[in-house]
Amino acid sequence: MMKLFSPDRVIFEPKSLDYPLGRKIYSYFEGTSTEIIKAPIQKISSIIPGTTEGQKYASGKKTLVVAVKKSLKFDVCKPSADFGFSLVTGCPASCEYCYLYTTQSSKPYLRTYVNLEEIFDSVKKHIAQNNNRLTTFEVASAGDPLAIEHITGSLARTIEFFGALDNARLRVVTKFSNVEPLLGLKHNGRTRFRVSINSRYVIKNFEHNTASFDERIEAASKLAEAGYPIGFIVAPIMIYDCWKEEYLELLEKLRSRIDTGKSAEPVTFELIQHRFTPTAKKFILERFPNTSLDMDESKRTLKWGKFGRYKYVYPKEDAAEIKGYLTSLIEERFPDAKIEYFT
Ligand code: SF4
Repeated sequence: MMKLFSPDRVIFEPKSLDYPLGRKIYSYFEGTSTEIIKAPIQKISSIIPGTTEGQKYASGKKTLVVAVKKSLKFDVCKPSADFGFSLVTGCPASCEYCYLYTTQSSKPYLRTYVNLEEIFDSVKKHIAQNNNRLTTFEVASAGDPLAIEHITGSLARTIEFFGALDNARLRVVTKFSNVEPLLGLKHNGRTRFRVSINSRYVIKNFEHNTASFDERIEAASKLAEAGYPIGFIVAPIMIYDCWKEEYLELLEKLRSRIDTGKSAEPVTFELIQHRFTPTAKKFILERFPNTSLDMDESKRTLKWGKFGRYKYVYPKEDAAEIKGYLTSLIEERFPDAKIEYFT
């Protein structure tokens, strides 16, 4: 069973304790084996121990920083939503292919924000700026808020906040399965929960410290049962021996466990093929020297991305095969589902 995350150390930015949530998190850790430290943001990196890249990475992943979110202007978050904001950045998992490695420091700690009311005000401002049209917000583009929900409770508050907003929708994505506290919330169908899912092989070999294949499907099943609009992010999709059999197994499992009748909204799928940048490959090889991730450039093709960075993706024919195969698996089992994109 997935163990709930417990950090080795929690670092409070002094101002965070001016907020009720900051104090709540402080009480949560008082008297536990987690070391409590108060320090300004500039000191954090020197407090987290580690000499080798591997040690720094491991101790970063076991550190939670409690902070106040200063910049309240949200980024545009295409293709998944109009805007993205964070309750939490980083996550305690160690996926070998993680797309965040290149933007994080060598000590990728988790950070949670305590000024929820200010964040909620900013959500309202962004809707107003959008002329009060229906506006979608992604809350998990820079981290996995469910991973530390047992410590913060902020995802639950955010779901209920959106539940009371007519012209906004929230989108969450997770690789964790501790969904019980969210099942009874007044979400009003306005939060779409996407479970990040993959074949057994990918989850077992590359997604360390996350919920297992079966746990995630059970979590999705409970969320669907509780009336949340449901989605699946199948990512990163990889080609390996037996990939077709295993993605078939995945879709079969989803079909048998997900009741699509509880929400008026269609089930959505987002399909993302595996990709890597040269910088990410360097990080991955440092942190996981024995990785079996396939990062052989000669079997890939270059694709230019945002900001002039390029990445390696599957060649056109392979990408078309992944897209065609996954699309047919989905359409046969979820005829009303919406495939939002393949990239
Ligand atoms: S769960 Fe997401 S953010 Fe966390 S390590 Fe895995 S890919 Fe990265």
